[in-house]
Amino acid sequence: MNLISVIGSGTMGNGIAHTFALAGLRVNLIDISQEKLEQALDTITLNLGRQVSKGAISEAEKNTSLGNIEVFTEMEKGVADADLVIEAATENLSVKLNIFKELDRLCKPEAILASNTSSISITRIAAETNRADKVIGMHFMNPVPVMKLVEVIRGFKSSDDTTKAIMDMAIRIGKIPVEAHDYPGFVANRILMPMINEAIFTLHEGVAGVTEIDTVMKLGMAHPMGPLQLADFIGLDVCLAIMNVLQEGFGNPKYAACPLLVNMVTSGQLGVKSGSGFYDYSGENNELVVSKRWTT
Ligand code: NAD
Repeated sequence: MNLISVIGSGTMGNGIAHTFALAGLRVNLIDISQEKLEQALDTITLNLGRQVSKGAISEAEKNTSLGNIEVFTEMEKGVADADLVIEAATENLSVKLNIFKELDRLCKPEAILASNTSSISITRIAAETNRADKVIGMHFMNPVPVMKLVEVIRGFKSSDDTTKAIMDMAIRIGKIPVEAHDYPGFVANRILMPMINEAIFTLHEGVAGVTEIDTVMKLGMAHPMGPLQLADFIGLDVCLAIMNVLQEGFGNPKYAACPLLVNMVTSGQLGVKSGSGFYDYSGENNELVVSKRWTT
């Protein structure tokens, strides 16, 4: 595999493009928004520059990586010659189903089509194509250039050859792949999100405060970040959407979202992206300050 197309140039798409380009692969980065593509190139340039200043890569490697990336707003032009397509577009079922229908029509018959979805069924996405054996999940973690894990999710019909090709590719770009089957939340979110939800219940029921809950998990369990801070970082709307996927997928009340999480999302208090969640992000410095709501 030499040419990789990445669909969507947001948070994850730019990190995926960065990682493949740095590993020496050619990348076609595709987005419906020219502005998002320009932002993505700026972000990749900035992040490669950081790696240069840390001594992790050379200036020449940075320039070669940037030279490996070409941007497109028309999917047709960007995917025609791709050996592997990684879809990292907005997390919305109909958006993804449309993209995969189009990819199946536009890509070479032998091309593998992967999705970076956090919560949508790979089997459902694959059913939209005539090549379900070549459709698979390739779930990167944020920030992609830093995080080592790739969850490789086998859809119900993903073939052994497709799975092996993706496991090998993950290793080629310096990641550590883990294979999982396609059930709601896969492995990462099935375990992480109920833990975050339980931390929110613990706050909601007044068992302990924000700082106390995060301190227990950081110092007691050696987690680098407490669950409430992590929830703010992921986005509370994303956490709620994934809890809903778990509950709908398994039909088990143990996955019911905490009413406090629902209220925070409904009122637009979404974490880092909205400036406030369990912590407040409106200040100038990087100090972690608990949101007023939880200090009074
Ligand atoms: P984002 O909102 O930052 O970026 C999505 C991009 O997709 C936008 O630039 C948008 O313009 C583009 N887009 C929308 N429709 C498109 C189309 N039809 N064709 C091409 N581009 C299109 O989202 P993100 O956080 O990068 O998430 C992308 C995917 O990665 C989602 O499926 C999400 O579940 C998954 N994911 C996200 C994270 C995370 O921490 N953000 C982690 C793992 C997986």
